[in-house]
Amino acid sequence: MTLRSILDINRSELEDILVNTLSCKKFRVDQVWEWIYTKRVVDFSQMKNLPKNLRFELSSRFSFYIPGILDQKQSKDGSIKLLLEYDIGCVECVIMPFEDRVSLCVSTQIGCAVGCSFCYTATMGFKHNLDYTQILTQFLVANRISETQLKRPITHVVYMGMGEPFLNYSNTLKSLEKLTSSEYYNLSVRSITVSTSGICDKIVSFAKDSKCGLAISLGSAVDEKRTKLMPINKNYGLKRLKEALLQYQKISSKLITVEYILIHNLNTSLQDVKALVKFLTYLRVKVNLIPLNASPNDSYFPPLEEEILNFREYLVSKRIPAPVRYSRASDIYGACGQLRTLNESNNKKN
Ligand code: SAH
Ligand code: SF4
Repeated sequence: MTLRSILDINRSELEDILVNTLSCKKFRVDQVWEWIYTKRVVDFSQMKNLPKNLRFELSSRFSFYIPGILDQKQSKDGSIKLLLEYDIGCVECVIMPFEDRVSLCVSTQIGCAVGCSFCYTATMGFKHNLDYTQILTQFLVANRISETQLKRPITHVVYMGMGEPFLNYSNTLKSLEKLTSSEYYNLSVRSITVSTSGICDKIVSFAKDSKCGLAISLGSAVDEKRTKLMPINKNYGLKRLKEALLQYQKISSKLITVEYILIHNLNTSLQDVKALVKFLTYLRVKVNLIPLNASPNDSYFPPLEEEILNFREYLVSKRIPAPVRYSRASDIYGACGQLRTLNESNNKKN
């Protein structure tokens, strides 16, 4: 019999099992809950204030399904990339320490169906959706590692790893609820951002369904170029995307983050930045400029310093904040778009 994930149990279900089935006193519910969601242990045997037989009963009914850590690499910039092994395959996530926070970049799928021409994950094709407990266990494993190696817990989560979160919408949403609910992991909604390539109907739903931040990967504000970079643009073109973002804004007061990947001689011209400014009219946004990292397409190159500066200056002259975000962990293939599970055991599995 496969055990149920303990992360899939709500408090009243746990109470029912502990009090009615296992005849425990009610305070045991608080204790177990605190171990899981406040102390964030991932092993019943560590729940030291519980009687041994209760720990045994719990472990014979439930599991944390914590993935094995197949590989761990530390970047020169302090970021740590983890390769985690789930029963359906391997998943990468990246811990990124900054001065004021520790961010974790999580994956929502193994591979990705969207097929952006600059992204390594796309080269895997789509393999599996992760269920929400598998998104949460990335956080739990990474948090342990962050606490032990960096001496700081994870404070921020970005859904920018492998996969398209809005093509695995219900699991993405459930994981967000658990990360932010005061009953569960209690992270601030302001500290979590979900990035999408532009699944328009879900952008509008997301404004209603979650208070976490939204980032949208734009790539280009010129339809033909965007389609070349991000084939999703065939189904959800720029006009539709803009309508979705305007609708999002009607419901949510949050600034939208627009991620604009800069590729040498491709989307960095004056016409390109003018098209971007036009696209952004009436939108409350901040633009993150992301210079291309290594890419599977060998005709794409990172932008020259001058291209970055000119592009950015034009945006700033139009009063659009546009920080340049150099990717972290690029020396260990942990940067934006570089996540793909090349590990041998993963190849055997898939
Ligand atoms: N599927 C979602 C989230 C994962 S991709 C999305 O596309 O938004 C996260 C970010 O990585 C996206 O903004 C994407 O534009 C960026 N990215 C992908 N490949 C990249 C590369 N080679 N260099 C720099 N950024 C890249
Ligand atoms: Fe998928 Fe995002 Fe990569 Fe595009 S950039 S292929 S949507 S993971």
